[in-house]
Amino acid sequence: MVTGSQQLPSGHAASERGVIRKPGAGRIRVALVYPNLYHVGMSNLGFQTVYRLFNDIDHVVCERAFLPEQDGGKIRRVMTVESQKPIEDFDMIAFSISYENDAPGVLTILEAAGLPLPAAQRGATFPLVLAGGVFCFLNPEPLAPFIDAFLLGEAEALVSGFFQIYDPLADKQENLLAMARHVPGLYVPAFYRPRYHEDGTLAEVERLADVPVSVNRLIVPDLSDLPTASTILTPDTTFDDTYLIEVSRGCPHGCRFCSAGYVYRPPRFRPLGLLDRQVDDGCALTDRIGLVGAAVSDLPNIRELCDKDRGREIRFSFSSLRADALDGPLIEALKKSRVKTATIAPDAGSERMRRVVNKGITEDHVVAAAETLVAAGIPNLKVYFMIGLPTETESDVGAIVDLVKQIKHRFLRTSRGKGHIGDITVSLSSFVPKPFTPFQWAAMDEVKTLKTKIKMVKTGLNKTANVRVHADVPRWAYLQGVIARGDRRVADIMLLAHKNKGNWPQTFKASLVNPHFYVHRERDPDERFPWDFIDHGLDKSYLLKEYQRALAGRTSAPCPADPSKCSICGVCKENPEI
Ligand code: SF4
Repeated sequence: MVTGSQQLPSGHAASERGVIRKPGAGRIRVALVYPNLYHVGMSNLGFQTVYRLFNDIDHVVCERAFLPEQDGGKIRRVMTVESQKPIEDFDMIAFSISYENDAPGVLTILEAAGLPLPAAQRGATFPLVLAGGVFCFLNPEPLAPFIDAFLLGEAEALVSGFFQIYDPLADKQENLLAMARHVPGLYVPAFYRPRYHEDGTLAEVERLADVPVSVNRLIVPDLSDLPTASTILTPDTTFDDTYLIEVSRGCPHGCRFCSAGYVYRPPRFRPLGLLDRQVDDGCALTDRIGLVGAAVSDLPNIRELCDKDRGREIRFSFSSLRADALDGPLIEALKKSRVKTATIAPDAGSERMRRVVNKGITEDHVVAAAETLVAAGIPNLKVYFMIGLPTETESDVGAIVDLVKQIKHRFLRTSRGKGHIGDITVSLSSFVPKPFTPFQWAAMDEVKTLKTKIKMVKTGLNKTANVRVHADVPRWAYLQGVIARGDRRVADIMLLAHKNKGNWPQTFKASLVNPHFYVHRERDPDERFPWDFIDHGLDKSYLLKEYQRALAGRTSAPCPADPSKCSICGVCKENPEI
């Protein structure tokens, strides 16, 4: 567990470009908190966007805070970056949570701020504690006892609705009830009580007030008039001097392991005119432009965007490029960017396994992409795979080794002509089943099985020159698995881990709640899930059919170019304006 002092030296904000400052008197004061370190939070475009959205509201002033760095186990107060005021002095503390592994940081921060951890023990004198971000609209339940209200969905669709109903002068409980009833996308966990069957599965969720049975997650149907880009450029982040522009949300390809591919449906792309203006804005600040989205190479007109003469050399980078989409203009853009390493994500080694996950690219695509990248002068490759995918066999793991050797062979042939041989880094991640994906029913591999598979790949490649294998730590993937598909009883495990200062092995041993229940159990087709109350518009029957197709090794088509004529997964039918 990370605890300790605020890691930002005071005056840090002075080095940031674009920081929003407003006088605070008479306004609602919000401390927007990222439950991880400054450089992680400030590299997150979603966090920067929420900061801007809050400050765009006249009667709101928003300041940022982050998880303090470790400091000998001592917990100090968490101060905001802008005014160096403690977050407990604000009217609201709003957490932005993207990943399961950030969730424990919420407890650290609440304690550091002197707030009782259970929401039920925080009376009217304490700030209102909110949470949003993709973690919350996948499954907020493991944090439910600690949070007053969750905002489920895309911030642009939620923030103004929230401040229209929230009354700073009203009683806290009255406010929460009014918001649970009238703010679309708002979920107040205290108004719901889960009951469990004897076998531990969820039986029903009782409503304790007149609140909706399910909560719609909100999205912005049309991104045409909604630019999203870096609000602040700061040197202390992963993307230091890169101006990030979000080009799209969602992804049409339907990879079955990818929660973002389902909960951000339907895929939405920003028009060329808007992106063109944003690139120009970014060029005024820096020559580095980062195009962000789950499906950047699917953006219509991306080649035109990168190709345009802007009177100065622009170094584009891309958060995702599919191996089957690398062509002239994109390769040219990569060349100009002078990147030293490009990433290819086959995700699985064998053709069979790629059909199971619905990846939609072949071995030929992967090998050809590697060759093209090296021929374009990008010396190093990172190749990304998952292990522990449903139905995976030893031979599928062996296929990772074979594919890397094939890539290496072509890589070597092309590199020789260039007179320089770069490195191939193989990145292995342990697969964690996520809510709202077809694999939400799947069991996760045991830690020891994952370790064996990692060893197989490492051993298989240890004599291959210029190839390095990096693997994540399966124990951390296990923790992610507990939190990802946890219910409110997982909150007890989190509380115990917090008391144990982040010692998870000790916590899992001592916990009265069995963590394996959430990780290693294949779910029955008709099991009720803790996250089922969130309405994404996705038909659960569609996800189950996709799971069954996966198990049978059958692929499914991506979203069509015109989603208005499609009702396959249910999302576009639920959003007729799309
Ligand atoms: S309804 Fe069709 S186009 Fe819309 S998100 Fe689902 S599969 Fe894609």
